[in-house]
Amino acid sequence: MKSTLIKKTKKMVNFTPNMENYNSIYNNHTLAEAKKDIDFFKGKINAAYNAIERHANSWRKNKIALYWIGAEGETINYTFRELNELSNQFANSLHSLKVVKGDRVFFFLTRLPQLYYGFLGTLKTGAISGTMFAAFGPQAIEDRLGNSSAKVVVTELQLFERIASVAPKLPHLKVILVVGDPKKVAKLKVPGKKVIALDELSAQQSKEYKTLMMKPDDPAFMLYTSGTTGKPKGVVHAHKAIIHEHLSAKYVLDIKDEDVYWCTADPGWVTGVAYEILGSWSNGATEVITNGKFSPEEWYKIIQDYKVTIWYTAPTAIRMLQASGDKLVKKYDLSSLRYLASVGEPLNPEPIRWGLKVFGLPFHDNWWQTETGGILIANYACMDIKPGSMGKPLPGITAEIVSDSGQVLGPNKEGNLSIKPGWPSMMQKIWMRPNKYKSYFEHGWYISGDRAFRDKDGYFWFIGRADDVIKTSGERVGPFEVESALVEHPSCIEAGVIGKPDPLRGEIIKAFVKLAPGFKGSENLKKELQKFIKRHLAGHAYPREIEFVDKLPKTRSGKIMRRLLKARELGLPIGDTSTLEEY
Ligand code: ATP
Ligand code: MG
Repeated sequence: MKSTLIKKTKKMVNFTPNMENYNSIYNNHTLAEAKKDIDFFKGKINAAYNAIERHANSWRKNKIALYWIGAEGETINYTFRELNELSNQFANSLHSLKVVKGDRVFFFLTRLPQLYYGFLGTLKTGAISGTMFAAFGPQAIEDRLGNSSAKVVVTELQLFERIASVAPKLPHLKVILVVGDPKKVAKLKVPGKKVIALDELSAQQSKEYKTLMMKPDDPAFMLYTSGTTGKPKGVVHAHKAIIHEHLSAKYVLDIKDEDVYWCTADPGWVTGVAYEILGSWSNGATEVITNGKFSPEEWYKIIQDYKVTIWYTAPTAIRMLQASGDKLVKKYDLSSLRYLASVGEPLNPEPIRWGLKVFGLPFHDNWWQTETGGILIANYACMDIKPGSMGKPLPGITAEIVSDSGQVLGPNKEGNLSIKPGWPSMMQKIWMRPNKYKSYFEHGWYISGDRAFRDKDGYFWFIGRADDVIKTSGERVGPFEVESALVEHPSCIEAGVIGKPDPLRGEIIKAFVKLAPGFKGSENLKKELQKFIKRHLAGHAYPREIEFVDKLPKTRSGKIMRRLLKARELGLPIGDTSTLEEY
């Protein structure tokens, strides 16, 4: 589909970006140069030292690191020094529990401050930190704590029951640390496990801690993928990942000292770890974090009240905001915003244009995966946007479109989006699955599993996950282009598109459409949508079947689960649904 270039104007970029010129920074980048932003100790490193401790020892010590907003609207502010001391007390707590380097410490918390300084404190001890969405059910928890054989899990009173229900099946789990009233925690019992009130234990600890300096390749944290395509994989990242996380937060998110930065991701997902804890704080960002639920009113109010300047969110949130209407936006003073970014799913051109209309700023899409540990392809403040494109590779990243046989393909050819291995935040392993890890690498490339093409100007365009690409009447169609075309129609706020086996055409395209408020599904509307797509896309790419739905199945990280739509449609087993949002 044609997309009109968004030319950057002074109004859209009224600041000097950290990356002033893409080509010159990309072409002159060296790893040695990138490392200069990171503190090493005789070749050793600690990601948490870089994210928090070095600021606590610098002029930033009294700078606000975190404006925290609780679920009930209560607020606490933390300086870098305070967060650092709390992370030290957490590290000392782990020591008192005999946690050693390499042990796994998992967090099953809502977005409480303990999650953030606990994560950092864990890294300081050399233990491996892991996160889980607070909305996970017992099976998802058991899978992750079991696969990682975690020794400690940190949770809170309201989530305790779920941990207790699976703890007997987890022989490696020794300690359950619980956030909340120590008197209440004292009453909790799980046979064979220590149940301890975290805040009480922490309060007894020294605020000093000697951070363990690690080898750059030593593991720092592990995260399970979103499970969009199947069973989540336990992806392990090293301390040196901070090099790329720092660099990407600086160049893509454009974080500067005077900013108020808000990343809306949950740390149960890689974005919440890399750009809410590590890369963002490594750049000295003042952050807003809310433990509240999504609501358009609340979100706009946060931007207004905290004068948020940089906002990093996801397509699904943007589409929900769009569905809540333009009038609502106008009720708030959002003039503090200067830079918007999005990740997690393909960002259709329509929400980019909507952002431009209501915020006066475009969303900058960027692409990466749990496995890549940081943003690899992005739109930048200094670069014009081709709506629908993921942008260009980051400094230090060589991205190519590679054929199944390992050939590097030229412009406009669809193939496997592939990366030259060896960037600092590349995953170190898949926990307990060495063969799975190996399967990512072919012909000297890291194969992402996403299909894409690059245009003649060097912009990358997402087509779909390899498994989702549709073959209809001998032609290949990416679900993203059909979904993007559908959401251009005023009636359609969100769409999920799949291929459905068909004896004549191989597959036909079926679209699941969520309607915008005020629209009703009808046969006429189906016909209109089909006509609309035929006008926008090649004739074969229109959905022969359309079904109106109230909701699309999504992962906790907000991704449309097309495999679930397909399994249901075909009456097949639905596979792992541990990460499925309530549906
Ligand atoms: P699993 O690997 O378990 O199936 P997942 O791939 O959804 O889950 P993540 O690592 O959270 O797990 O997501 C990475 C994937 O998200 C990418 O491979 C890509 O398919 C999609 N994605 C992320 N950002 C973008 C983007 N900007 N445009 C298009 N797709 C994106
Ligand atoms: Mg994946």
